[in-house]
Amino acid sequence: MKIKIVGAGPAGLYFAALMKQLDPSHEITLFDRTARNATWGFGVVFSDRALEFLRADDEALYRYLTPHLETWPDLTIVHNDTRIPIAGNGFASIGRLELLTRLYAYVEKLGLQINFETEITKLAQLGDADLIIGADGAFSSIRSENETKFGTTTEWRRNRFIWYGTSKAFDSLTLTFRETGAGVFCAHHYRYRPDMSTFLVEVEDATWQRAGFKDMSPEDTIKYCERVFAKDLEGRPIISNNSYWRNFPVIWNAHWSFDNVVLLGDALRTAHFSVGSGTRLAMEDSVALFKAFKECGTDVPAALARFQETRLPPMKKIWDAANVSMQWYEQMDKLVATLSPVEFAYSYMTRSGRVDHAELRRRDPKLALAYEALHPQSRV
Ligand SMILES: Cc1cc2nc3c(=O)[nH]c(=O)nc-3n(C[C@H](O)[C@H](O)[C@H](O)COP(=O)(O)OP(=O)(O)OC[C@H]3O[C@@H](n4cnc5c(N)ncnc54)[C@H](O)[C@@H]3O)c2cc1C
Repeated sequence: MKIKIVGAGPAGLYFAALMKQLDPSHEITLFDRTARNATWGFGVVFSDRALEFLRADDEALYRYLTPHLETWPDLTIVHNDTRIPIAGNGFASIGRLELLTRLYAYVEKLGLQINFETEITKLAQLGDADLIIGADGAFSSIRSENETKFGTTTEWRRNRFIWYGTSKAFDSLTLTFRETGAGVFCAHHYRYRPDMSTFLVEVEDATWQRAGFKDMSPEDTIKYCERVFAKDLEGRPIISNNSYWRNFPVIWNAHWSFDNVVLLGDALRTAHFSVGSGTRLAMEDSVALFKAFKECGTDVPAALARFQETRLPPMKKIWDAANVSMQWYEQMDKLVATLSPVEFAYSYMTRSGRVDHAELRRRDPKLALAYEALHPQSRV
């Protein structure tokens, strides 16, 4: 088959690798608008069992990536000055650039070529193909050009976030909430290299307005955030990499494909970063589409229909949880003000409904007991 893939992020790269391994005669071309070594952001985090989702389908890639992950077994919630470590929440992370560099090498070893600095804004630019993949991220051009066919919906959320890094290496994935005169500031921070951490700051819109970020220079914005999180950063600087305040777009598509064109990864749907599943979902999409082709051979319409049918239920479960988690952060001012540190940590853990009291008791009996002492009726 002649396959053209727009976007060499985790979704596009991994799908290319799987299809080439399935049949080396596939003619696969990848296009990415950025330069090879240019990427936004710092590290990405994988929740739960890290790359375990890859293990069954792709032991080779699993072994290739796993040694480069930073991993830790617990997470920490900081409610102003109270730290609450929570056991039983394994996370792993890797620098986004490192992950991409490793995936570039992986697909190139299979004989595939990535056309960097090549922007595709219209399907017509691609010429003839048996299959076209729109893996061009949350702001996909392939999707925007065909929104009606995909049945796209985009809902912009009100919270603001900015993705920074810092040279302070944190020892667990930590969510720090600090009350200030302007409102609550939350930092999602975790080490992704022995000497670097992601430091993502999120605030409610009203806090953002009161702090005056709208008219603040990038340098003063960094200084402001460094003051808010001075105790956490312990003198280390916040580092920018094209960092700017954004709102999160919740994107969904009713139809994942039309004719021979299909969406994968963030182009298909976005999942709030607070559940650490964007990269995992993107790679799982690739596995599901690959499996659909394995089943249906070169029957493209059948494979695309099969892809949506098999992938929708497991993906929707994580997407729903991500949306509930996102809404929890949208009430952070009220939650920090009204809950004690233990209640707050409990609320965090049970926010998306995936962890109930019994499960929390299993993961971290100490936190469950502390909560039961405050709310005896919660005992199970
Ligand atoms: C602030 C923030 C924090 C995040 N944190 C995490 C996290 O902790 N853990 C996690 O797992 N995920 C996280 N994510 C999400 C994660 O980065 C994405 O979900 C993941 O990268 C999706 O992979 P993808 O391949 O679908 O898209 P992308 O990684 O976005 O790749 C798309 C590619 O397409 C290219 N492209 C775009 N338009 C064009 C065009 N017109 N022509 C050619 N090429 C084009 C881009 O250059 C890019 O390389 C976060 C995202 C954000 C915004």
